[in-house]
Amino acid sequence: PPTIGVLALQGDTAEHRDVLDGLGARTAKVLAPEHLEAVDALVVPGGESTTMGKLAVRYGLVEPLRARIAAGMPVLGTCAGMIMLSDRVLGGAADQTTVGGIDMTVRRNAFGRQSDSFETAVRLDGIGEDPFDAVFIRAPWVESVGTAVTVLGRLPAEEGPGRIVAVRQGGLMATSFHPELTGDARVHRLFVDIAKGLS
Ligand code: GLN
Repeated sequence: PPTIGVLALQGDTAEHRDVLDGLGARTAKVLAPEHLEAVDALVVPGGESTTMGKLAVRYGLVEPLRARIAAGMPVLGTCAGMIMLSDRVLGGAADQTTVGGIDMTVRRNAFGRQSDSFETAVRLDGIGEDPFDAVFIRAPWVESVGTAVTVLGRLPAEEGPGRIVAVRQGGLMATSFHPELTGDARVHRLFVDIAKGLS
């Protein structure tokens, strides 16, 4: 079975590992280029993307990450991790470092102050009929996607008309929300299947 790394520079790494462990996946912490070489797929957790970008530079991980993504490594990015995987970022710091890979434009902290954290049910392609209880914490949304990107989910009309909050491009997958917090492992199960080449 594939070893799934969790990028452990910053953010809620442990929660992702717990969900993956619960699925019987083999997991490993990634904090250095040699750790990255030892994994088959990677989760980039939520946290704070400016800080994560700075730490990725300091730990020499930016170019190795770009190279593995270019070579086809599956990656799941959640919240700040979605920002890290985005080719274009709005509302970021001028010197924000991202890794890129998904042909999309995300807007950081898109929901504004009044709803900077909320929970809502989102329908997602690829995980079955039941909506996913999605937790948004100072989340980004996806403003636009290129033709290679498949939209997996959008917000219901009452939360933000049609905003894209889950996408996939080949082995790369990203969600605006935190799928590791609600005890529903379906997003991670889909990603493990992608990592196994089953989806
Ligand atoms: N607001 C954070 C950022 O812009 C993301 C928040 C999160 O990951 N929960 O990086």
